[in-house]
Amino acid sequence: MDTILTSLLAAVIAAAIVTTLANTGTTVYLHRALSHRALTVRPAVAWVFRLVIWLTTGIKPKEWVAVHRKHHAYTDEEGDPHSPVLLGWWTVQKMNVALYRKALSDPSLISKYARDLPDDKWDRWFFGHNKTGLGLGIVILMVVLGPWTGLLAAFIHANVYLAGNAAVNALGHHFGKRPYPNEATNLQWLAFFTMGEGLHNNHHAAPSSPRLSHQRGQIDFGWWVIRTLKATRLATLRFSDVRLTSKAQSASGATAN
Ligand SMILES: [Zn+2]
Ligand SMILES: [Zn+2]
Repeated sequence: MDTILTSLLAAVIAAAIVTTLANTGTTVYLHRALSHRALTVRPAVAWVFRLVIWLTTGIKPKEWVAVHRKHHAYTDEEGDPHSPVLLGWWTVQKMNVALYRKALSDPSLISKYARDLPDDKWDRWFFGHNKTGLGLGIVILMVVLGPWTGLLAAFIHANVYLAGNAAVNALGHHFGKRPYPNEATNLQWLAFFTMGEGLHNNHHAAPSSPRLSHQRGQIDFGWWVIRTLKATRLATLRFSDVRLTSKAQSASGATAN
């Protein structure tokens, strides 16, 4: 009995670590650095993020970037790959991966939205082979923790990561606060699970800003990581603070501090 509980605890702790790494890579690198160019990281740091994404998510960066940029281009109108306004929040929550794949089935998507991210030798050798990376990540967990505990950790991580990222697209455009005039919402509890991504209304109001927490009391762990990278000269920021879109600026009562 003790052994089962110990294995379960080890799987939960390992999954929490892996999901945190995956969420950090997603929000800091895929989202804020690549999709919006809100920060630029040193090549060695970019390589580490690419490795983390490769081992923990099965995502090809240019594909994620293309789908996400299309979401910003058509937010909550016809053409948005995952809009709760068009599809209902529950459909987006449960079908997020299918909607992502459907968006990628458009052969012009990458050339239209991620032309600035051509494959390099690392993509050709490793990072472009996303299933290999995910498989290797699972094998590493199985070797470190033992086969069943490792598999359980991978299972927990996959579910929490996918649910969290779906929630940003689904709940984050339906439930929560809207300090700025856009359909996205702020959910601090979701931001805790997703390294800041839950502050999604703020993000749509200032998409090129590296910081997603705009007001006192809002916590964005991704920004803490970015501040550390900046302090150690491993990253440079496009804007040192929040830069609102003109639409958000002109909204009454919307403040950024
Ligand atoms: Zn959004
Ligand atoms: Zn974005």
